[in-house]
Amino acid sequence: MGEQVPSPVQVRLDELHARVQLNCEGEVATYIPALGKADPALFGLALATHDGHVYESGDTGVGFTIQSVSKPFVYALALYDRGLNGVLERVGVEPTGEGFDALRLEPETGRPLNPMVNAGAIVTASLVNGDDWGQRFQRILDGLSAFAGRELRVDHEVLASEERTGDHNRALGYLLRNAGVLEGDVDKALAVYFRQCSVVVTARDLAVMGATLAGGGVNPVTGQRVVGADTTEHVLAVMATCGTYDFAGEWLLRAGLPAKSGVAGGLVAVLPSQLGIGVFSPPLDRRGTSVRAIAACQELSARFGLHLMRPV
Ligand code: GLN
Repeated sequence: MGEQVPSPVQVRLDELHARVQLNCEGEVATYIPALGKADPALFGLALATHDGHVYESGDTGVGFTIQSVSKPFVYALALYDRGLNGVLERVGVEPTGEGFDALRLEPETGRPLNPMVNAGAIVTASLVNGDDWGQRFQRILDGLSAFAGRELRVDHEVLASEERTGDHNRALGYLLRNAGVLEGDVDKALAVYFRQCSVVVTARDLAVMGATLAGGGVNPVTGQRVVGADTTEHVLAVMATCGTYDFAGEWLLRAGLPAKSGVAGGLVAVLPSQLGIGVFSPPLDRRGTSVRAIAACQELSARFGLHLMRPV
């Protein structure tokens, strides 16, 4: 018996990983102090297909906090629970052209511009089903876990750090309540948002979560339906236009895939009907996106011909 030959996809993924690992640009986020301890050399790259096969290269089992990569998944839960129009009443879908923490609401409606910036994500989390904030967070944690296909948990050290340094997000919360789009206790709404950001995932989890969006809401590994296909269509559209904030245009131009970045260095990208890509590497560019994640996705897209606008 000879040794099993690795699949061509695995070989190319490993080659790409080795090349992108050499890119040492970017800085680890420090505005949430606990994130500043991350090892800048970490780099995991995973690819999950529509039929549930997962390819992994590098640090794909290392846990990190999901941060803003949670936003499209919580948006999916809110859409599923409230319907598109119910969510659109409170959260818009236009790109901001600004950073993730932009202090800007639509002048006429008071809505945050989209659910991928913090203001929109804070309102979105408040729209998930639940009789109180505790139930709402439980639904978010269960939902994220169903997308990942395993039980996820919160990193309490990062959560405490976010809460200590979260005044900018609190300011957004009060603006949102003043505008009439966030109801109830601002501190409790913020507590749900901070906890959502502090959920621990791996690059492998993000790939499976992305593949669940790719597959119209059914997790390809567990077979569980998490949300409906109408919902994933809407989520992917908003990820394509707003997922990387003020980099969304160039991202779509170069990688051609709906995606969402997070400040701990995670990124999910999706090729509809086909696959989810999960990347983790802590050093970020000046707009808050992982440098290696951008490089890896652009290369993957070019080498495997994944750009959505590419003629077949
Ligand atoms: N928890 C972070 C914040 O609200 C998430 C930001 C991000 O990942 N871009 O500041």
